[in-house]
Parts: sequence; C-alpha cells; structure tokens
Amino acid sequence: MLLFMSTLIAAGTVALGSINPTLAAAADFSPSNPFFAPSALPFQAPPFDKIKDEDFQPAIEAGMAQQQAEIQSIANNPDAPTFDNTIVALEKSGQLLARATAAFDGVTGANTNDTLQKVRTIEAPKLAAQEDFVYLNTKLFARVAAIYKQRATLKLDAESLRLVEYDYDKFVHAGANLSEADKTELKKLNEEESSLQDAFLNKLLDATKEGAFVTTDKGALAGFSEARIAAAAQAAQSRQFDAYVIPLQNTTQQPDLVSLSDRGTRQTIFGRSWNRTERGDANDTRDTIARLAQLRAQKAKLLGFSNFAAWTLEDQMAKTPQAALQFMDAIVPAATAKAASEAKDNQAVIDAQKGGFQLQPWDWTFYAEQVRKARYDLDDAQVKPYFELNNVLQNGVFYAANQLYGLTFKERHDIPVYQADVRVFEVSDADGKPLALFYCDYFKRDNKNGGAWMSNFVGQSHLLGTLPVVYNVANFSKPAAGEPALISFTDVITTFHEFGHALHGMFANTEYPTLSGTATARDFVEFPSQFNEHWASDPGVFAHYAKHYKTGAPMPEELVARLRKSATFNKGYDMTELLAAAELDIQWHSLPPSAPLQKPDEFEKQALDKTHLNVSYVPPRYRSTYFAHIWGGEYSAGYYAYLWTEMLADDAFQWFVEHGGLTRANGDRFRQMVLSRGNTEDLGKMYDSWRGAPPNTKAMLNYRGLEESRSPK
Ligand SMILES: [Zn+2]
Repeated sequence: MLLFMSTLIAAGTVALGSINPTLAAAADFSPSNPFFAPSALPFQAPPFDKIKDEDFQPAIEAGMAQQQAEIQSIANNPDAPTFDNTIVALEKSGQLLARATAAFDGVTGANTNDTLQKVRTIEAPKLAAQEDFVYLNTKLFARVAAIYKQRATLKLDAESLRLVEYDYDKFVHAGANLSEADKTELKKLNEEESSLQDAFLNKLLDATKEGAFVTTDKGALAGFSEARIAAAAQAAQSRQFDAYVIPLQNTTQQPDLVSLSDRGTRQTIFGRSWNRTERGDANDTRDTIARLAQLRAQKAKLLGFSNFAAWTLEDQMAKTPQAALQFMDAIVPAATAKAASEAKDNQAVIDAQKGGFQLQPWDWTFYAEQVRKARYDLDDAQVKPYFELNNVLQNGVFYAANQLYGLTFKERHDIPVYQADVRVFEVSDADGKPLALFYCDYFKRDNKNGGAWMSNFVGQSHLLGTLPVVYNVANFSKPAAGEPALISFTDVITTFHEFGHALHGMFANTEYPTLSGTATARDFVEFPSQFNEHWASDPGVFAHYAKHYKTGAPMPEELVARLRKSATFNKGYDMTELLAAAELDIQWHSLPPSAPLQKPDEFEKQALDKTHLNVSYVPPRYRSTYFAHIWGGEYSAGYYAYLWTEMLADDAFQWFVEHGGLTRANGDRFRQMVLSRGNTEDLGKMYDSWRGAPPNTKAMLNYRGLEESRSPK
C-alpha cells in the first residue's frame, strides 16, 4: 500500500510531522517486535498489550528499509512495465511501514509521551523523505508513465484505470517531471517543511498546556457548577497543583466562557488562548509559520504553480483557489449580517444589565447563552442529563447506523487498547458478516491532541485481504469518578460527525488500498461526517437516544421543540469564525514565491480586512499562530473544505428529506453509490450521479437560518 500516512481526519488538531536524519538501526528489529508480522488478533487489530514505546522506532525504520527494497525491485524490474508488475506491486509495498505508522500515529495523537515525541521528531522527516524516495524515483516514474500512456489499450476495469491515473498524477504533482537539480532542491524544501511542521506542533502542544488558566481563587470561577469546579480541582491535582485548572481547548473560543460570570476571568482565559503562541517564549510560533508560508510558496514555484494554494487544489473537488474563494465570498455577506444581528442581541443584554461596556469576543458566548435562555428558555444544564455519552453512542449513533444500513455493534473487551478509557466494538453487516472494528476514545487528556478525529489502524482492501479497523478520538470533559458523562448537544453532534468518518472507513469496499475509504480529496472527506451529523437531530433518532440518564424518561416535547428552534441560534457567529479561519488559510497559501517573510500579526489583520472578515467580536476560529490544521497537518490551503463539504452534506441530507428520510433503502443506496466507493471515481461525478444534480448552497444557508425567506428545519 502506497499510503505513507494514515488519513487522519481532524475536527481539531492533527498530529503528524516532519523530518531530520540520524537513524536508530533497523537491526534492532526482530521477530519479537510486535509489528514484525501482521497482527494475529481479529481484524489484524494492533496488539497494544504487546506494543511498547521502544518497539515503534525499529519497526518504522525496518518498514522504510523494506519498502525501499520493494520500490527498487519494482523500479529495476527487467521486464517491461505492466499494470501488475508496477501499479499492483506498488499497492502491495510498504505493509510493515503502514502497520507501524498507523499504530504510531494513533498513539502519538491520543496518548503521547516524551519518548514517543522524540521518536516522532526523528522519524517524521525520514517518512517525508521516504515519500520523496518513491515519487521522485525516475525509473519508477518512467514505468508508471509508460502504463499511463497505454492505459486506454489495457482493458482495465474502472477502479484499476482510476488507480493508474491517480498514481501518475501523484508522481507529477510531487515533482517527478522535474530536472535532477530541481528535484534535489524540492527534497531540501520538503525536509525543511517537515521539520518546521513538527516544531510547530511541539510548540503548540506545550503552549496549549502552559496556557491553562490556574487560580487558587474559587471566586474567579463564579458561574461554574459544583461538578465543574470539582473537575477543575481534579485537573489541578493531576498536575500536582493545589488550585483550580482550566485547560485550554484548541479553538480561539473556550467553552467555559459560557458560564463564567466574572468578566476578568473570561478576559484572562480568552487572552491566554489568543496569545498562547505569541508570548516571545520558546513556544512562540510566529517565526515558524512565517518561514513555512514562504517555503511553501517556493515549493509551488518549483513545481510550476503561482502559489501553494494553486498547487494544492489541483487535485481537489474545487480544483482552483479561485473556485474556493468564490464559494466563500458568496457566503460572507449572509454570515456577517447574521453575526451582526446576533451581536446586537448580545449588546442589548449587556446594556439592559447596565454593563457599561462594548461586547468583546470573551463576552460573546456568555451573553449569547443568556439570549438563548431568554429566547428559548434553554439551558445547557437542562439538556445535558438527556445526553449521557454511552446512551448517545449506543441508542443514537449506532441506532441511526442500524436503521440506515442495518449495522449491529457488539462491545469486545478482549481486544487490547492503548489506554484504559478506549472502548472497542465489533461491527457486523446487515447479513451478520463481520464488517469492521471500531475504537472510541472520547475523554480529554493532557497528552492528547485537541479536537476530535478519525483514522484507521488497518485500512480496507480486497487486494490485501484486510477489513477496516477504525477509531474515533474526541476531547469531552471526563466526569469525576463515579459520575455519568453528560455531554452537550455540541458534543453529541461531534460524536455523530466522527462516526460519519468511521462509516466512510468501515463501508470501504475497494480493491486497492490507495483508493479505499476516507482516502479521498480533503474537500470531499468531511462530507460523510457532516452528513451524518444531521441524524443527531432527526426526530426518530433523537427520540431514541435523548433520554434522562437517571429516569430513562424521554426529553419533554416542549424542551425538544426549544432545542430544535435553537438549532439556527448563533449560526452567524459560527459561520463567520469558520470563514475567517478558512480565508486566513487561503491567503497565507496564496503568497507569491517572491514575497518576503511576513509578520504574522500584520498579515492576519490585512487578510481579514481584505476579505471583509475583520469583525471585532468574531475572532477567527483559529488564529494563524495556533492553526494546527494548516501548519502542522494536512489541511494547508484546505480549511475551506469544511465549508465546501457542509454544502455537500446539507444538499445530500436534503435528498434524504425528499426521499423519506431514515430508511434502509435510502441508506443502502447512499452506501453503495458514495460511502463504499472511496476515491474510485471522479468525486464530482460520483456526487452528481447519486444526487441527480450538482450540489448548491441553498440547503446550507437554509439549515443555518441564513436565508430569511425560509423557515428553519
Ligand atoms: Zn471531520
């Protein structure tokens, strides 16, 4: 399998990194290493009971060596290039590396430590260089190009033809057509990029940890429930403080601000978030991102593009930065107008309470929550008892998957996990056949990256005879011992979202690992997940899971009605903060190669001014200096994809609404034509043929209440 990195799909942060030489010997690799052979566990699940921190590095090193030997033997094959001896052989290469890195990425993302971080720092650059070893290999490219040229005469099935075209494009995209001198230059830039990405992620992890708000003054936490105060005390204890600690979340806004009534506390927490990576200390990322932006522009120039965004979007559904910008520019007026009217509502509450100040970002959620309560009489504390995590999972998320696709789930306690909070379920298909393993790891830890994400420990492939092993990770507050995990409706949505990715991975039904499951374009990959979010609010699904954790009583109808009405609440803010982050991303990556090193603060301000998104009370969802998606992960010049795929998801759900909603027939058709297809056909065509028309923004604006003339869902 040619995949070097598992597709790690993040709603928050991505942990993957980078580069730099010096090797630990692959000689340490022996049959006693748990990665030596494919796992003997069901579904080839990683043997976490046997895997020790020191096993990863030798396995990754040996995996790279093995793949290099495989690549050499394909490239140097004296026989004329054929589909089997080149394209299929590539698909079969690198299996040891894939199983070691999949487990490694999983553990470093969700349960890391100093040893693993060190290994990552050493191995990440080598993994990037490994990618160059394949895609900049002249002999190998000549073979792929020869097959590509004769592809019309080879009588290949559609998936095989797609793979030939995919491989060829990927080589060209990576620079296979460059001169030897330019290839050397590109390799240098790739290595530097990878090192900087890794440096960025390490700084951010430390900065976020150090940015935690610490206080010994219980009064500063006014507005918190006793349970939340207890959790803050517990967070302090786990850090050996005798105090209260509120850890920072990844985003600019911090969820606790919604209940903290002390304005000073709110402002302090917001400031710690906003400036976490701009304090002039070792964790300051400004120089790192400035150089990353410059270096990426230089890389694009080398590859024949005017900027990095143009190079990145070439193989995406949107195809060009212009298409992405036009799509966003068209939504900006509706989003900012709605945000402005929401701001007015918030200011009215401040004024009515004789606050005597102008609304600031750290006030937004606190007053918005009061507007919400006044308007819908809806308190998060009122609804949370109906959203107990396990119940949401089993009677909501799993139930919807059962109704739509016939899936059933059985918890397995015999599959080893990397941390005690992780749960494992075996997933069976409608006909009872085993389909996949599903792991979930929902509670926040200090050694976990922020946000939520999905990935595979094992990818599906008929060629390799593998079934998918998929995991979801999130950062929900862990309840104090013995207490139930009552989550917000936002967390409910996150659970459905990540499970949408999981379904995309579990339904994969393709021959080749390269085209399997979630291995699609970025501006497609968030479509199945955002689509799955809709089922959280579907009346039939909602009634099935929203039950009081103590009494089992369903959520009272009038509370449901209020929750439903409040669904379009604050959507102006939400859309605007996303647009601001997405525009920052595209602007940073549209810098021409000739541009000097930027000053991040000035650049950020100008970029927001230019796109009409410099809205004082709606800061970007991520500031440039802690925007892990674009500097440390795989979303560089791709953050717009979240909005693009929202358009797809809402438009797709509209199809379900028009065809009778939650039925097996609808689910099976969607699974067959979209969710099982991975990247085996052109994604735009795949969508259009399932939907019967190209996507548009109508349903998207409607569901968010951004279109005045329509009533909300
Ligand atoms: Zn996602």
